[in-house]
Amino acid sequence: MKDNNCIFCKIANGEIPSRTIYEDDAFRVILDLGPATKGHALILPKDHYEDFFALPEDTARDAISVAKKIAPKMKANLHADGFNLVQNNGETAGQTVMHFHLHLIPRYKDDGQNILWKPTEPGAEELDAVKAQIDG
Ligand code: 5GP
Ligand code: ZN
Repeated sequence: MKDNNCIFCKIANGEIPSRTIYEDDAFRVILDLGPATKGHALILPKDHYEDFFALPEDTARDAISVAKKIAPKMKANLHADGFNLVQNNGETAGQTVMHFHLHLIPRYKDDGQNILWKPTEPGAEELDAVKAQIDG
């Protein structure tokens, strides 16, 4: 299902042009217009799902299969030193376009980006409590 008000639905389905580096029946992979690094790309399903939680399991699996096809080619041809797969859900987590997308971000030595988080130092009790909360 498409959402007529969603820009990524329009891009994924070819209504808005994009620099497409891969396409199949269910996905389009495009270059990000505000790239973190050279080659930053986005895997977009052609159907509209707001985020990871709305994504059917088989589509999630297929998105990873697309990443397995494309990321090695990007890494090799762009001579990247590393690679981040990033996927944001919800405004709090940095999601700005509410159509599921998986970021493919080639990394280069000294590229000046900082995609990694700042570690915290919870005690053992706090970690145990978190585990208990997740276990439910
Ligand atoms: P988010 O913050 O939602 O995880 O990522 C949204 C990404 O989409 C950003 O990296 C942003 O640069 C990219 N983006 C937003 N609008 C467009 C667009 O119209 N075309 C393309 N190619 N990328 C876009
Ligand atoms: Zn959409």
